[in-house]
Amino acid sequence: MHELGITRNVVAIASEAAQGRRVLKVTLEVGRLSGVMTEAIRFCFDTVAEGTALDGAELEIREIDAQARCLACGTVYAMPTLFTACACGSRECERLAGEELKIKTIELEEAA
Ligand SMILES: [Zn+2]
Repeated sequence: MHELGITRNVVAIASEAAQGRRVLKVTLEVGRLSGVMTEAIRFCFDTVAEGTALDGAELEIREIDAQARCLACGTVYAMPTLFTACACGSRECERLAGEELKIKTIELEEAA
């Protein structure tokens, strides 16, 4: 499962960033056009986090709406699918958001 690999990556990156401290919460930003199943990430997160700095950490996933800028008229428009055209009819666009998958924040336990 693709999402299991993603979750392992997230846990590995957050563990490293924590430098021995406990991670309380991780916030992910996942674009709606990224093709990532956020439910699958939620589903395996606890298991992957077990025994790491993220054991028991909260996982927040923010889904990011996709946006594109039309290269013909410059309008920025919402892009619910990869095939959404601009209101002017052009499909020539630059995607601004919607395909990302990134760790937005990592909340650590206060250092003792
Ligand atoms: Zn346009």
